[in-house]
Amino acid sequence: MLELRPNCECCGRDLAPDSLDARICTFECTFCADCVDGELGGACPNCGGNFAARPIRPAAMLACYPASTKRVFKPEGCKAA
Ligand SMILES: [Zn+2]
Ligand SMILES: [Zn+2]
Repeated sequence: MLELRPNCECCGRDLAPDSLDARICTFECTFCADCVDGELGGACPNCGGNFAARPIRPAAMLACYPASTKRVFKPEGCKAA
């Protein structure tokens, strides 16, 4: 099951569980569409993999399976080394 992390790892922007702007890699590194399409160039800076749009978890399912509240953020920046 996806964690549904609450924010973009790069810019820190909030990404609600129903956000259409959330993008995830295969390890569920989570970024917003702006960062993915912009400075990340479509590749995950942590693992080098590609991104897919994060599926929306329906509200009824969120009640039983809540989204993660643990923020992952890299204040030093997210660009690949
Ligand atoms: Zn971002
Ligand atoms: Zn990754």
